[in-house]
Amino acid sequence: MDNNRQNGILYIVVPCYNEEEALETSAAALLKKLRELQGRAMVSDKSKIVFVDDGSKDRTWRIIKDLYQNHEEVKGLRLAHNKGHQNAILAGMMYARKYCDFTITIDADLQQDINAMEDFIKEYVNGSEIVYGVRNSRDTDGLFKKLSATLFYKFSVKILGCDLYENSADYRLMSAKALEALSEYGEVNLFLRGIIPSIGLDSSVVHFDVFPRMQGHSKYSLSKMITLAADGITSFSIKPIRLVLGMGVVALLVGFGMIIHIFYEHYFGYTVSGWSSILMSIWVLGGAVLMSLGIVGEYVGRNYMETKQRPRYYFGEILSRDEGSSHDKI
Ligand code: UDP
Ligand code: MG
Repeated sequence: MDNNRQNGILYIVVPCYNEEEALETSAAALLKKLRELQGRAMVSDKSKIVFVDDGSKDRTWRIIKDLYQNHEEVKGLRLAHNKGHQNAILAGMMYARKYCDFTITIDADLQQDINAMEDFIKEYVNGSEIVYGVRNSRDTDGLFKKLSATLFYKFSVKILGCDLYENSADYRLMSAKALEALSEYGEVNLFLRGIIPSIGLDSSVVHFDVFPRMQGHSKYSLSKMITLAADGITSFSIKPIRLVLGMGVVALLVGFGMIIHIFYEHYFGYTVSGWSSILMSIWVLGGAVLMSLGIVGEYVGRNYMETKQRPRYYFGEILSRDEGSSHDKI
């Protein structure tokens, strides 16, 4: 174990999308926490909080600028577009990795208990390269979110065999080594909760409580949630495509059975009575074919996005007291 681990440079990465209501309170709490950690010599005095503005349309960037001006410990990154939570975290971590020994990512609404940070750091000091935050319960979520998230985890872990921690969140510690490994993953359709376990470095788990959102409302729209779930499934499993193949095989077998039936009907002259079976076949098979096309299409579409290899984020602006240009692209 090297000495750096004892008093390492921590960068707290905070993705923010239209968080004008929550940001000031959260920033105050985070600054207090950071100073407390520094006071107890758990992290270095060079540690920082990096706010990543994910192309917000409200006053978020204005607030980040003020925080930067007033506090030595604050840095700000502004993405040129709204690229989504996952890309915002990635952008923050990839920026931070140039300066820090480890990062902790946490949501801007501070629904996740910041007091768990000590536990994260202890695990890091004990040698973990990645420390996963796993939520204690989903009591603070609405019924729909609770149900959809539970179903998603059950489906992707049990049925599709994805390597995922159930109820894991994007509240997580990553060492510089883990970040370097993560930087090798070039995928555009990002699902960090799935990618990071597949890195396979030493890891541990910290449990934390989740509170209700105090200010503002959830920035995860239904469509953003569906995209995240679809990214999660398609980036880790081709089982849905296999399922389509299986359905095709079953349909074909039924089709062979139908040949016998059709011959029978033909030779015994009951051909008019086939109306129900024909209609049923049309609807069931038609539905199955369309659904299969859809599933395959999801993969083809994602493949298309991946092959373009477009940058996942652009920094429109960087607020930092370190050297470097304010218009950076990584
Ligand atoms: N977020 C983001 N980009 C987006 C949507 C959300 O950076 O397009 C951030 C948001 O500001 C917050 C975090 O992701 O810091 C989690 O979002 P939110 O709290 O709205 O989600 P929920 O807790 O409802 O799942
Ligand atoms: Mg939240």
